[in-house]
Amino acid sequence: MPAPETLSPTATAPLLCVVIPVFNEEPVLPELLERLQRVLGNLTKVRWEVVFVDDGSRDRTAAMLTAAAVLEARFKLVRLSRNFGHQPALTAGLAQAGLADAVVTMDADLQDPPELIPELVAAWQGGAEVVLAVRRSRQDAGLRRVGFDVFHRWFQRVSDFPIEANTGTFGLLARPAVAAINGLEERHRFFPGLRAWVGFKQAEVVYDRQERVAGTPGQTLRRLVRYALDGIFSFSYFPLRMMTYTGMFIAGCGFVVGAFFVMRRLLGQEVAFTGFTTLVTLILFLGGVQLIGIGILGEYLGRIYDETKRRPLYVVRSPESL
Ligand code: UDP
Ligand code: MG
Repeated sequence: MPAPETLSPTATAPLLCVVIPVFNEEPVLPELLERLQRVLGNLTKVRWEVVFVDDGSRDRTAAMLTAAAVLEARFKLVRLSRNFGHQPALTAGLAQAGLADAVVTMDADLQDPPELIPELVAAWQGGAEVVLAVRRSRQDAGLRRVGFDVFHRWFQRVSDFPIEANTGTFGLLARPAVAAINGLEERHRFFPGLRAWVGFKQAEVVYDRQERVAGTPGQTLRRLVRYALDGIFSFSYFPLRMMTYTGMFIAGCGFVVGAFFVMRRLLGQEVAFTGFTTLVTLILFLGGVQLIGIGILGEYLGRIYDETKRRPLYVVRSPESL
């Protein structure tokens, strides 16, 4: 057994910061804190701290984290003024972690096991600047599951540059990558996309995504769909291109049909005044296609509008608690 002092990291050891957005996670917190402390306490070559971002929780989450921060000085708490959502909360955490040499980003619900942190750190110390925790399997069931699968498979094809499938928030960023992501000011944030966009030397660590330990997902299905749309509209022109292709196809059909009737006319075959059903169907179909097109344009336009307003992504309630 080495002496205890050789086990604990020196004051000049690199600093690892774990950033965790937390929203109404009261039932999970005791186990999360316990497992974090155990895993991080065993790291011998780095100093560590954890930045919890309380995203306007309405249960006792903030109180519990404040109490935990009193007992363990390396647990820090940033409180947002209301519930801003997972991505803004994560952004707030990354902003607080700018001085760390590496930042681990993870969810609070223990779907991302803290026990993987040493492997992430090892990959970083092995030279990687961005370490992705890639899900080998996931426990979600039903509609969520189908949604995740369809999204990841399809998104791979349409995104403007490769974004690793089956990755989420979980992973590690070295300081240059954190700085690069913090420098991106876009409002509709899709973290896996931003992380892929900034580049740097990547490594992967594979893990099995766990079931949420307790509580219910704060990310409702509706929010997840919105998040997926953010991913698509922020990283792909595919929907716009699809509109163009659909328009060309329909215009092509129109041309062929028009040419057909002109030919019949020229050949002296009169066109009888029937086809009410066809007309109604066509009008409704084309009206629908046009509205979908306007909707897609609107998605991009709304995002442009949000960017121009330049509102901050989140408001911090108590910076003094850091
Ligand atoms: N979260 C948050 N704000 C929200 C919703 C969720 O900070 O408005 C946190 C939540 O506490 C968790 C992480 O974001 O740590 C992921 O949320 P969740 O488990 O609900 O989502 P999913 O696992 O479905 O992605
Ligand atoms: Mg979860």
